[in-house]
Amino acid sequence: MPAGDPALTFRDLAELPVNRLRGVGEKKAEGLAVHEIETLLDLLQHYPRRYLDRTHQAHIGELEPGEEVTVLGEVRSARTQQLKGKGRRTLTNVIIGDGTGQLSLTFFNQPWRERQLKPGMELLVHGKADTYRGAWQMVSPVVDLVGNQTGRIVPVYPQSEKTGLMTSDLAKFMEEAIARCRPRGFADPVPEAVLDRFDFVTREAAFLGIHAPASLTEKDAARRRLVFDELLRVQLELVRRKRRIERETAGLAHSVNGELVDRFHERLSFSLTGAQQRAIDEINHDLALPRPMHRLLQGDVGSGKTLVAVNALLIAVQGGYQGALMVPTEVLAEQHHLGVTAMLGDLSVPDQTTLMGDRPLRVELLTNRVGNADRRKILAELVTGKVDIVIGTHALIQDKVEYASLGVVVIDEQHRFGVEQRAALRDKGDDSAAPDVLVMTATPIPRTAAMTVYGDLDVSVLDELPPGRIPIETIWARTDEDEETVWDVVRREVADGRQAYVVCPLIDESEAIDVRSAEDTYGALQTLELSDLRLGLLHGRVTAAEKEATMNSFRVGQIDVLVATTVIEVGVDVPNATVMVVLDADRFGIAQLHQLRGRVGRGVHASSCYLVGEPATSDGEARLEALVATTDGFELAEVDLDLRGEGTIMGERQKGRNDLKLASLRRDKEWVAKAREVAIKIIDADPELESHPGLAEEIELVLGDADADFLMKD
Ligand code: ADP
Ligand code: MG
Repeated sequence: MPAGDPALTFRDLAELPVNRLRGVGEKKAEGLAVHEIETLLDLLQHYPRRYLDRTHQAHIGELEPGEEVTVLGEVRSARTQQLKGKGRRTLTNVIIGDGTGQLSLTFFNQPWRERQLKPGMELLVHGKADTYRGAWQMVSPVVDLVGNQTGRIVPVYPQSEKTGLMTSDLAKFMEEAIARCRPRGFADPVPEAVLDRFDFVTREAAFLGIHAPASLTEKDAARRRLVFDELLRVQLELVRRKRRIERETAGLAHSVNGELVDRFHERLSFSLTGAQQRAIDEINHDLALPRPMHRLLQGDVGSGKTLVAVNALLIAVQGGYQGALMVPTEVLAEQHHLGVTAMLGDLSVPDQTTLMGDRPLRVELLTNRVGNADRRKILAELVTGKVDIVIGTHALIQDKVEYASLGVVVIDEQHRFGVEQRAALRDKGDDSAAPDVLVMTATPIPRTAAMTVYGDLDVSVLDELPPGRIPIETIWARTDEDEETVWDVVRREVADGRQAYVVCPLIDESEAIDVRSAEDTYGALQTLELSDLRLGLLHGRVTAAEKEATMNSFRVGQIDVLVATTVIEVGVDVPNATVMVVLDADRFGIAQLHQLRGRVGRGVHASSCYLVGEPATSDGEARLEALVATTDGFELAEVDLDLRGEGTIMGERQKGRNDLKLASLRRDKEWVAKAREVAIKIIDADPELESHPGLAEEIELVLGDADADFLMKD
């Protein structure tokens, strides 16, 4: 690569195959291919998974029993033996030494370790060190093949047992790649003002600093730069698409002030929380603009999202349009139908064709459970516009369903719907103007994560509960004695006229022996602990009719204790229920436990939630501790993100396909916000990145269309 040529862009790097590097022969190239490294760009973006600081490494001679450590040592011997008994089980024993002592590594059923770990090789092993018969040992450690590397800071790359690549091989390739690029240098499409503002290092320094740092400070500076670049690309794409939709789709300009909405607010027996007022203002602002709203309303259980949604639906109705509320389950649809109908009471809408000049506001329920005759009638009245607000499940988006003039669409519990379903409902609007869309979720996502996961939506947050709520007390019942007292509490509350839920994870024993099934729990409680109470059972396999009958009996107080699976996770609203018991609670995720807990504390009586379980893992303990410590959904979401990593939060939505190789939504929170801010500035000045062709090219290259579509769920 002769000097004088223009600096190397990502596209150039993506066109240079790795086998152009010295030392990358057929075999190594195959190994690299396993890691999906085919070009210099792939190689440079294959980042170390950790660094070994030689000045801080543990020596075998100084280990403490039970300590989790990383040890650098040389293989002395490796031996595999067949274990007696069933199957072909093997045990491989590898001895390593570091001059201060010896450590024995044990691997089960990994006979290939003997071939992989040859005497003389340098290894980095990570695990819990313990003594066994006077010798140090580590069972099933994480192993990195370091090779003979010098330098104080040694980068350790992700490895695969399928490749013969040492982490030292990769380090060597990296250094050569960077050296070969040096004469031309790396093109840098990020505006200079941005680089200055954050005091970023150059791209060359960043690649060098991440792959061959002279110090950990240098590595940190490199990481900051590369993380920002990744986040900036994602945000630029999200903001660009969002603005495009805003420009290109015609929407409805609703008039937000009017008699219907005023009367609705006059009827309310309470005043809005500050958060509700703020969300309504934000939504009204969007509704008034002639472009379709795309807004996410995040609010913890009980924060009063329904009212905010109804306000938006009424604005549609007030202007002569229809509103639709789509929810994921029939139970929830029915619940909302009851709640919304009660909230609206006898409101009427103007209608010149009637004698009085108005008619009652019509709210209808549409689910697959609605009988044929009723359904036909509702469908007909949706087309003619006689129905003002329709509440239902995905039945709302079936082909047969047509609307006279859909103005506002609200989608609740959006994580349960797919992209296509949301689009389908939006498409039920008039061809010339798309309806405004409000997506509601009770799953709190930390703001910064929301900026990436929901980057194309505007976000309103209800971070305040209506006043007067008595906080739910959460108790972790660890022992059998603790559990006994739980049933005492349930009996006492029922004696006081209250009701309780008991949640069990699975419905039969086929999935795991130690998980209590709802049926067994029901049977056991019925004959033992709660034998004098009236119990009901609800799980995914009871028929719809039975389910409805059971829910109704519980609602009207004919059932004292509802034993159920997580079918009651959302939407069930029985204010008289004051105790929630979750069995094997450690098996649930934080978000799920939080949703379940939200089923109580909905009335005027003090409520409690008992988490029964003895977690097998420290994560399980941390989850239950978090639930005991706080009822704030956003705080819990942060803990959840900390415990699970963003892999899961992103994973659910994007199946891990994204440009974030280095950036972490958790660690790099502040940078998500900064990248978003920069992206908005750049796009608003240059909507299609015409004067930033370098950035546009990188985005196209790194964030393929499929990925970008995935990022845009609405
Ligand atoms: P979410 O859907 O966010 O979980 P809901 O909309 O179901 O919450 O509201 C929970 C309860 O709080 C309902 O009974 C509702 O009537 C009540 N509520 C809503 N807003 C207020 C308010 N500002 N003041 C008092 N109660 C309210
Ligand atoms: Mg709700």
